[in-house]
Amino acid sequence: MLYAAAEGSRQIALTIDDGYSDDCVEGYLRFAEQSGIPVTFLPNGIYADTWDPRAERLRSLIETGQVQIGNHTMSHLNLLESDNATIRADIEANEQWIQRVFGVTARPYLRPPYGARDDRTDRIAADLGYTRITMWNGTLGDSGAIDPAVLMDLARTHVQPGAIVLGHANSPTVLGLLDGVRDLIIERDLQPVTLDTMFGTSRAQG
Ligand SMILES: [Zn+2]
Repeated sequence: MLYAAAEGSRQIALTIDDGYSDDCVEGYLRFAEQSGIPVTFLPNGIYADTWDPRAERLRSLIETGQVQIGNHTMSHLNLLESDNATIRADIEANEQWIQRVFGVTARPYLRPPYGARDDRTDRIAADLGYTRITMWNGTLGDSGAIDPAVLMDLARTHVQPGAIVLGHANSPTVLGLLDGVRDLIIERDLQPVTLDTMFGTSRAQG
């Protein structure tokens, strides 16, 4: 299970899940394009309407290694409440969508929705090539609506050396604060990276 970078590292991985807000997906993509900061997106295929129209721009960032795509299941499934066959089908459906739209595999990174996992779900994921179950040790708290001041407080608390920071492309609140997040990364002399860079993996063509 992955919760953080190795001890002593100044790396930080911004990991952005879901994507049900079109404005938010656009805002994060523009942030990546303009800041050059690496971002790992973990989209759900049920939100293909927000991701697919931006596939070309995302692909060019994926090709340079600045953006990485991880798997977060097709339908934002709670794995603990699902039977084995359903889990398999949902992870695989998202992998197929990611390969088709972004031209890469998401393996070996799977983030279980809600962080809900156990040995059974980890084994099913591993059988599908998802051997790195990606949790987090910092959050922007924005899976749903959030007050901007609260979000920025969370950013100040959690944008730290070694952090895997969880954010969501769901609530546009974060969009006005991304420059602040970027400034925290710079002021604190952190090294923003994708999960591939943090853990020494690489992308194969899907
Ligand atoms: Zn999620």
